[in-house]
Amino acid sequence: MGSLNLRVEIDDKSGFCFGVVGAIEKAEKELEASGELYCLGEIVHNDEEVKRLEFQGMVNITKEELSTLHNSTILFRAHGEPPVSYKTALKNGNRIIDASCPIILKLQKRFRESYEKGDTIYLYGKPNHPEVIGLNGQIGNKAIVFGHFEDLDLKLIPGKITLYSQTTMSIESFYEIVEKLEDSGIEVNVKDTICRQVSHREPSLRQFSRKYNRIVFVAGKQSSNGSVLFNVCRQENPNTYFVSSPDEIFEHWFEKDDSVGICGATSTPMWLMRDVEKKLLNL
Ligand code: SF4
Repeated sequence: MGSLNLRVEIDDKSGFCFGVVGAIEKAEKELEASGELYCLGEIVHNDEEVKRLEFQGMVNITKEELSTLHNSTILFRAHGEPPVSYKTALKNGNRIIDASCPIILKLQKRFRESYEKGDTIYLYGKPNHPEVIGLNGQIGNKAIVFGHFEDLDLKLIPGKITLYSQTTMSIESFYEIVEKLEDSGIEVNVKDTICRQVSHREPSLRQFSRKYNRIVFVAGKQSSNGSVLFNVCRQENPNTYFVSSPDEIFEHWFEKDDSVGICGATSTPMWLMRDVEKKLLNL
């Protein structure tokens, strides 16, 4: 126990969602069997977890590198991929381990069917997020993607649209956008495709964050869901700190005998939250 005598608890509901657990299990199984695996993009938005798997032999590749790879095994991560990635990989004799989350695969199918039916598709999400690229690729990039209501030009929106969401967006913001569109006279066919693995964490994280003097929120800096959930914690507890690894923790954040809650995103490994706990207990 360190001199600050902190009381530390980890939120047992934080950590990987089942989509990410599935992808990592598939990667580990292949690495155990062959010691070699290429992963298209980072398997999870968490540098520490990526480093752990790289140590076991996983190599991250970009889309450009995919087109030059031959006769290898490539994992497609939980975010899902557009059809062009499958075509490119298979054309060069590669084997694909498809670790796309089942929820995303279902959503991709809905997206295709909706487009084939003639819906005018709008997608609330981050334009460069891999899930969004994978989704929009299903329909030849015909969806209008936007990250904020303010990004939309109301004059250009037709009278009726079908609105989908990236699975990790905030449920509150999604319904605020629906309301604003409807208030502007646009008929919205609402397809709430926010993953409940994420949105269900909001109420429990709110409760968790109120129980402690300070919150240490652990997530990768590029994690979408990490930034949404971090803001949820900060709304409840202004003494909330975002860290990606134990090295980013500063002693001056804490006072003697503070209670500290540790929580994280759906892309945060439990082992990393335990490392953060160890560091706090030694302050
Ligand atoms: S957040 Fe939901 S949709 Fe995304 S990978 Fe996890 S379980 Fe699948």
